[in-house]
Amino acid sequence: MKILIAELKQESNTFAPLTTVEDFKGFHLIYGNEVIEKLQGTNSEIAGFLNVLKAHGHQAIPVMAAFAVSGGPLSAQAYEYLTGRLYEGIHSAGKIDGVLLSLHGAMVSVNELDADGAIIEKVREIVGSEVPIMVTMDLHANITQKKITNATTISGFRTCPHIDLIETGERAARMLCGLLDGTSKPTMAWQKVPMVTPACKQIDFKPGPYRDLLQATIGLDDEGAIDSSAFTVQPWLDIPELGYGAIVITENDDQLARKLTSKLAKKMWDSRGPLLDIELLLAPVAIEKALKKSLGPVVLSDLADGTGAGSPGDSSAVLAALIAARPDKRCLVSVCDAEVALLAASIGVGGEISTLIGAKKSFAFSSPTQITGKVIRSGVEHFRFTQKGYNGMRVEMGLCAVLEIGEIRVLVTSLPAFTTDPQFYRCVDLEPTAAQIVVVKSHAQFQDSYDAIASEIMFLDTPGMSSDNVAQLPFVNIDRPLYPWDRDLVFDAGATE
Ligand SMILES: [Zn+2]
Repeated sequence: MKILIAELKQESNTFAPLTTVEDFKGFHLIYGNEVIEKLQGTNSEIAGFLNVLKAHGHQAIPVMAAFAVSGGPLSAQAYEYLTGRLYEGIHSAGKIDGVLLSLHGAMVSVNELDADGAIIEKVREIVGSEVPIMVTMDLHANITQKKITNATTISGFRTCPHIDLIETGERAARMLCGLLDGTSKPTMAWQKVPMVTPACKQIDFKPGPYRDLLQATIGLDDEGAIDSSAFTVQPWLDIPELGYGAIVITENDDQLARKLTSKLAKKMWDSRGPLLDIELLLAPVAIEKALKKSLGPVVLSDLADGTGAGSPGDSSAVLAALIAARPDKRCLVSVCDAEVALLAASIGVGGEISTLIGAKKSFAFSSPTQITGKVIRSGVEHFRFTQKGYNGMRVEMGLCAVLEIGEIRVLVTSLPAFTTDPQFYRCVDLEPTAAQIVVVKSHAQFQDSYDAIASEIMFLDTPGMSSDNVAQLPFVNIDRPLYPWDRDLVFDAGATE
């Protein structure tokens, strides 16, 4: 049978600057057979699709694979161009027997707030009501009525940070193959849960309520689910229908699917308190505490400027607080600012630099900081991930500079690189274990590697578009009541027995 496969993925933060086609080209934007050539054997949903289709002897018809890192909503032009290529590819594929779509589930465009829902709806319109459409999504997806109405099944990641991309693709493709060969009839139920929780608690590599929730989801497989997903939505989406989503798929048993979905929804709702329970410290308070500690490094997470959450990494708020604290121990901090990196290069190593730094893109949330220091390194830099899921992946930082301001070392990058891996600093000869304070711009993923070397981790309450102090962000489009805005909200998940 002929199975159409495609990917169009980006996680949008509606408070961040727009994402363009260039941002997709910066990661991958490929068409036709190149999709198979480039993604086969990688940790991707597409690779999972291909494994299962091959095992079942079906033919994969690759349309496109497009992925951009987290950022603002897609510009209207980017959305029209990318979806146009997708729909064109499906039209020209002719008669097909099934569709496997890899979407993010939290993609927004300026002209379509439920972009993934609109995409599935259009694909459904093109292929007709009889052709199954199995969709995979990130567990930070926002599940909506439109997505559910038009997809045959939706399967989400079951790990965070996400390392099960290939397995998720395989789960979706197995359900499609079972349906096509007549041995299975996947039956999906879903429920929204009116809650949003901070991203920094969404990790499953440490014991806690989040890991419990994901394990309870997987546990539903033993109770008769053939697939189940806890969509714990990322919180920076100022859109209607925002909230957690529970999906359970059973073997032709609607009643069981509904019951298990209620059970998962109840587990989500009952976890809301522990999942919201985070301590966010103001930067000056955290810095003072960290400098007083006898043992370093203390890792300060400036998550409001998290580059994995769509923020530009260009806030200098923590740098300003560090300068004000006049630390007598080594402190490492980063700011994405291409203009300052260029200025440092023109000054040269050993020269003095005096300039405003930061807030070029996040100016609505923070202000630039006046710095005076010395350029101690300048050049184009990169590193390779040593963390799970991304191990070996090369991360471009563009033209960089290291500036010395007393004991503070400022790593200035031109690109908003992920700061989650200690290699981010090590690649420019800054050693996190030799510092008293290390600043990262990440919610969850940095804990995977920094847990082992940090004497303590503190989360900061800084201004920024990916703040975990979500009630402070300028939401206007969300449906209320919604937890944690409405703390007294009562929610009934339905019958669980
Ligand atoms: Zn995610």
